[in-house]
Amino acid sequence: MICNKWIENLPVYEPGKPIEEVARELGFTDISEIIKVASNENEIGPSPKALKAMATAATEMHRYPDGGCFALKRKLAEQLGVKPQNLLFGNGSNELIEFLGHALLGPGTNLVMSEGAFAVYRLVAALFNAQAIATPMKKFAHDLDAMLAAVTPQTRMVIICNPNNPTGTIVSAAKIKAFLKKLPPHVLAVLDEAYLEYMPDDKKPDLIREIQKGRENVIVLRTFSKIYGLAGLRIGYAVGNEKVIGTLSRVRQPFNVNAMAEAAALAALDDTKHLEKSRKTNFQGLELFAQKLPTIGKGLAFVPSYANFILVKTGNGREVFKELQKKKVIVRPMDGYGLPDWIRITIGTPAQNRTVLKALKEVL
Ligand SMILES: *Cc1c(COP(=O)(O)O)cnc(C)c1O
Repeated sequence: MICNKWIENLPVYEPGKPIEEVARELGFTDISEIIKVASNENEIGPSPKALKAMATAATEMHRYPDGGCFALKRKLAEQLGVKPQNLLFGNGSNELIEFLGHALLGPGTNLVMSEGAFAVYRLVAALFNAQAIATPMKKFAHDLDAMLAAVTPQTRMVIICNPNNPTGTIVSAAKIKAFLKKLPPHVLAVLDEAYLEYMPDDKKPDLIREIQKGRENVIVLRTFSKIYGLAGLRIGYAVGNEKVIGTLSRVRQPFNVNAMAEAAALAALDDTKHLEKSRKTNFQGLELFAQKLPTIGKGLAFVPSYANFILVKTGNGREVFKELQKKKVIVRPMDGYGLPDWIRITIGTPAQNRTVLKALKEVL
């Protein structure tokens, strides 16, 4: 076999450690005792409406899905106030990032991102043998001026993760809009809004309004994996100008989104109660962590977060991650992000948050 040279050197993404793997490695027999707060999943679980829709959909699993996601597209378009042609669904929003790579990247091109942003962007650049230009963060947040300055004639896209994973920081709507005005027309701005629903309403940059008005140089990525609690199903969506969406649609496999995911997402969109409960639980959890972290050890520093996770400075994050695992708590070490002294903790249910804080206190 002869494989493409750049594939051999591709970096590997380190996902949150699965509960079953920790149980196997450490000999825990009751997996229900293990708390995984490593992948920013919604610990409340999926919406009951989505669960019901999945049960109904199960009997139809001998059928191929509706590749065009007709019903889901129509409902979401209505909710967002856009046209169905402005939407594209992916096998998780990660697949949409890959679509962007297929359509826009190749040897000799680059994407611009922030050093402390989601690791998948770098991987997608590498996958298409393109360069990832990463600019330094400013107080754990994207530095849009630095990103703009890093744009070259070969830049195809600039990715802004807002709120940013893993730091939880945001950039203001005003700054993003000013940035878009200055961005050269050959560059597409990709706004990864995987955690948007967790933001306070007055902080949300309303970029979909800009797309409605016909703006072509922005695409917004969202997901059902986070607040909707459907990470296992793999479904996310992009909102963009019809032309941009049309281009990306060309690289999509006919059945990239499965039928179970379509049914669940459709039902989840209707469950405002589940959404509100998830938001509220998260706000309260963030408050609890903000209150308790400074009381642990000599006082743990953290980055104020607008998402469903919090970046905490524990010193030697990899070691703390291992020690917490022995206490049946799985967090995410951050050395892969160049933050060896930090861990990222997903906000869970009130009971989980207390257990995690207690374990953290014991370990430190
Ligand atoms: C979780 C996450 C995603 C969504 O991934 P899916 O493929 O939709 O599960 C996208 N971007 C960021 C920054 C994330 O943290």
